[in-house]
Amino acid sequence: MQISPISKIILEGREFLIKRDDLIDPYLAGNKYRKLYTLLRTPKEELRTIISYGGTQSNAMLAIAAMCEKKEWEFLYYTKPLSTFLKEQKSGNFADALHLGMQHIEIEENMYREFVSSLRLNLNTKTFIVDQGGADVSAKVGLEVLAKEIREQNPDVKSLATPSGTGTTALFLALALPEYRVYTTPSVGDVEYLKEQMQALHILPKNLIILEPKKKYHFAKPYREFYEMYKKLQEAGVEFDLLYSPSLWMVLLEQIEEKVLYIHSGGVSGNRSMLERYSKKFKDIF
Ligand SMILES: *Cc1c(COP(=O)(O)O)cnc(C)c1O
Repeated sequence: MQISPISKIILEGREFLIKRDDLIDPYLAGNKYRKLYTLLRTPKEELRTIISYGGTQSNAMLAIAAMCEKKEWEFLYYTKPLSTFLKEQKSGNFADALHLGMQHIEIEENMYREFVSSLRLNLNTKTFIVDQGGADVSAKVGLEVLAKEIREQNPDVKSLATPSGTGTTALFLALALPEYRVYTTPSVGDVEYLKEQMQALHILPKNLIILEPKKKYHFAKPYREFYEMYKKLQEAGVEFDLLYSPSLWMVLLEQIEEKVLYIHSGGVSGNRSMLERYSKKFKDIF
């Protein structure tokens, strides 16, 4: 595996470095590639089935589907019941994952929680469960590989940044690179919720800095300022995702002065369906 390159962009007159994990693979990229690293290194004969569950536009779902296609593993993905609109969509993460061979199973809303917590019962040795968002200590190894690449590339910065959902990526990156500051901000819930999620995995290291967004945002909703940030970044030369990256870029521009290496977390494949929603909500900017 070739190591992902580092690019430079100028944003609001400031220089930023970008670790281009988005370029690793069209589907299996960004932090989902890093989190699935251990499974990707597992010989294909060792497993037969991968099980996961969660949202139907999730980047993790698509990355797992791409991995299972390469490995010839069966992939079962459980969700709550879907709208016909989403089922019939021809493009987007869900359509692509089905195309890669994912088997989708709907679980009734009132049974869902119980179903998910019973998944681990009666598992055979050739089946592996990936929890929602890949929030698991097994992500540690893949992030140590990322840390090693960064050390070798030795960029001219003292600080890194990467956005957070579960916080798994930012946490293990900070633990693997104590000589750097690691900035992040929550995209799902608030700072307190993010800290709780991280603390379930490990004690928070001192070099991990969680920045608070100026405004409360709901995950996966279209916001005009997110689209404006996305456009600005695209004009600067790199496409980022519309769910996680805009709020981190906003807090970096507003609250941080030093030069930063931003770890691209991938997720660009999800932009097609998000841009469709943006074009419906903000007719004037398209
Ligand atoms: C999943 C994802 C994240 C969040 O990663 P965590 O490790 O859960 O914090 C950030 N950015 C993108 C593009 C993602 O797909």
